[in-house]
Amino acid sequence: MAKRKIAVIGVGKIAQDQHLPVIDKSEHFELAATVSTRGIGHNGVPVFKTPGELYAAMPEVDLVSVCTPPGIRHQYVREALEAGKDVMMEKPPTTTICELDDLVAQAKRLDRVLFQTWHSQYNAAVDRTRELLAEQGVASVRIDWRESVRKWHPGQDWVWEPGGFGVCDPGINALSIFTKVMPFPVFVQSSRLTFPKNRQTPVDVEIAFKSGEPHQPQMSAGFNWLEESGEIWTIRFETQSGDVLKLEKGGTVLRVDDAVVVQNPSEEYEGIYERFAALLERHESDVDAAPLRLMADVFLLGARENGPAFEW
Ligand code: NAP
Repeated sequence: MAKRKIAVIGVGKIAQDQHLPVIDKSEHFELAATVSTRGIGHNGVPVFKTPGELYAAMPEVDLVSVCTPPGIRHQYVREALEAGKDVMMEKPPTTTICELDDLVAQAKRLDRVLFQTWHSQYNAAVDRTRELLAEQGVASVRIDWRESVRKWHPGQDWVWEPGGFGVCDPGINALSIFTKVMPFPVFVQSSRLTFPKNRQTPVDVEIAFKSGEPHQPQMSAGFNWLEESGEIWTIRFETQSGDVLKLEKGGTVLRVDDAVVVQNPSEEYEGIYERFAALLERHESDVDAAPLRLMADVFLLGARENGPAFEW
């Protein structure tokens, strides 16, 4: 079958690290163009300054992957849907739940495919954890998500602006695993957000969760963005059967009682593009709003503290 032509909108870190190389080797997709305010291209394909210019010049490109920061995603995705495109969105989908609801409604109205990606969900270790928790029940959960903002978002000032999520930008990856694997609904009970005194988004967050069930396991999360010793992306579960499940390295490794039972190389974006191809084949949308809803509640319930100023 002929490859589908796709354009990438926003050629920043994640587009260059993952989307473009994965499209290059995909059997389903072929890069047709980029849209880049800074004029960044890839392999000689046409580069446009705005999505509107792309849609006018290359109407045959009917797929776009929107890799911008979340603050402008609503506008770009709405415009793409209106132009008749099927759309893949980076995470976090939008900065508000109202915007995401609107995009879902627009995609439905216009009969387009809308795919909201959560890259951390695309791991065999995550799938196995979900199965084990369904079988064994949950006694406790502890999420530790610590990394260096200087390494993962070098010089990106948007992460510190209102709507930039701060440390909740990586933290929402943990919540996308959490909401996927839990066998019952979870809610935010309380949260504490520490803001650098010169910035608008948090650098450190501590969350307590509660369940909607009579059974109340201990469940909490800590996100930190000043961890310079390397990434700590770990979720530890105790099951009601007494096993300890540890999802490590962002969800790529599962240990049960310290023995590694699943370990896969990180091929999250390969999985995302496979999923997009399957959704297009079936003309089906896939939008999971649960991680954004939970994160919105972290901000709604958040107690604020001021911390030291942050400079790059
Ligand atoms: P980034 O390096 O800042 O890239 C975003 C790109 O979007 C910019 O380089 C710019 O590219 C374009 N853009 C268009 N309008 C913009 C605006 N108003 N402000 C800023 N950029 C604008 O960010 P990123 O790290 O790639 O993150 C993009 C999205 O991917 C975020 O939602 C993030 O959560 C997600 N993500 C990031 C990582 C990571 O490791 N950093 C991992 C997974 C997911 P042009 O100059 O080409 O227009």
